[in-house]
Amino acid sequence: MQHIVAWEHSAASAYLLYSGPTMLSRLLLFLATAVFGFAQPYAIPADWTRPFPPFKMLGNVYWVGTYDLSTYLITTPRGNILINTGLESTVPQIKAGVEKLGFKLSDTKILLATHGHWDHVAGMAELKKMTGAKMIMSEADAELLESGGKADFRFGDNPESRFTPLKVDQTLKDGDKVTLGGMELTAHLHPGHTKGATSFSFDVREAGKTYHVGLINMPGINPGVKVSGMPKFPGIAEAYANTFRLQKELKFDVWLSSHAGQFRMHEKYKPGDAYNPDRFLDFNGFRAALNRLEKLYLDQLAQERAAK
Ligand SMILES: [Zn+2]
Repeated sequence: MQHIVAWEHSAASAYLLYSGPTMLSRLLLFLATAVFGFAQPYAIPADWTRPFPPFKMLGNVYWVGTYDLSTYLITTPRGNILINTGLESTVPQIKAGVEKLGFKLSDTKILLATHGHWDHVAGMAELKKMTGAKMIMSEADAELLESGGKADFRFGDNPESRFTPLKVDQTLKDGDKVTLGGMELTAHLHPGHTKGATSFSFDVREAGKTYHVGLINMPGINPGVKVSGMPKFPGIAEAYANTFRLQKELKFDVWLSSHAGQFRMHEKYKPGDAYNPDRFLDFNGFRAALNRLEKLYLDQLAQERAAK
């Protein structure tokens, strides 16, 4: 499951990893990817669209995503915040999830995203139309949303990674705050995975306790990305290095991420489990995952530099 982080966007690869790959199928996939640049035919990982029952995670934070693609609903007395979507096809699942929890999708005032890849933002255009909410995105990833994915430094030329473009209403810089109804979310710019990948930190009060939540965009490396430098992202090596440094300085209690698999949600929660505000306390799990990703980055960088 940990490899999902690194393989996140090779849909076919992720599909194989999710469904239990044999060495042979992985070899075939590797060859197909090497020959065709991107494995064909395109297969969306089943867990990206597989429905998952919405649930209360902590206080006013709810999961309304699919089995693997995180969508977080944060409710406030002044309207709600929705963070990330799945694919365009999973918007009805998000809407149904919000309603099943007893909320109204039309109360959504702010849309946010951890980065501008299609598996996290392809539903934004539709959700913005349905809610009239304000799309707030990091400055560097705003062009991804406004180009419908075309501006991406790695996947911009892949038709399957495109989505309906939408206008960004407000952009975020590192340290900017997003506030609504007593909630304050701090944006942390963590580029590398995309140019404007963003984590959010915020506090949730529950039963007299304050939980510091880290919704972290994990710095995974997609297949086909050269971390020593990409034509459309020459500074990628420094971006990743900085992000690892910054993420190591973070302190929080509750760990959330862009994919359920990244923070091992399904090991921590099964549908029907009783509400437990302490369920997602896993700072050590975050640090361990971050260290694994940093090692992958350093190994890949060393290999690329040695090959030059
Ligand atoms: Zn991504």
